[in-house]
Amino acid sequence: MDNILLKTGDITKEKVCAIVNAANSSLLGGGGVDGAIHRAGGPEILEACKKIRKEEYPHGLPTGECVVTNGGNLEAMHVIHTVGPIYNQCREKCAFLLASCYTNALNMAVELGCKNIAFPAISTGIYGYPKDEAAQIAYNVVKNYLKGKDEMEVHLVFHNNEDKELFMKTIQEK
Ligand code: ADP
Repeated sequence: MDNILLKTGDITKEKVCAIVNAANSSLLGGGGVDGAIHRAGGPEILEACKKIRKEEYPHGLPTGECVVTNGGNLEAMHVIHTVGPIYNQCREKCAFLLASCYTNALNMAVELGCKNIAFPAISTGIYGYPKDEAAQIAYNVVKNYLKGKDEMEVHLVFHNNEDKELFMKTIQEK
């Protein structure tokens, strides 16, 4: 896991090519990490999101998919917005949809020519995904994705130490 970096803090401060936003399907901003990214990145990101909504996703971005905007005032050049599953609504598709968020964002970062990308713990806040289950899914997807991709680095950014420790404990148990 040399090229997976576990961090604690505010993802908006990450100096990487792309950061991932745990957005909602409206793409028009929200609470949690979404609110933090729009606050730190400034209005340019919201303008870009509004344009995408109008031109590509008039009914909203489907769960598991992602789109890219500029990074506005952030250090990151790109923001990849993805919509995580809402845990009490996704039923038997929860794991697949959460894994899709990670896979699609990683693919998009590669297409953008990025060598590094930072993820928040998608769906584990307002969307209620159990943090240990989400950790296992995130880790499996990222670890498999990075096989044979030595040049790529993934930062998993947790908002606090407890979340990072729970992640580490979960992935060690299996
Ligand atoms: P979701 O709606 O997908 O659950 P949230 O933003 O509510 O998204 O939460 C996702 C995760 O992001 C949570 O674990 C939350 O603690 C974390 N988080 C919130 N703000 C930040 C931030 N500024 N940087 C990194 N992680 C954050």
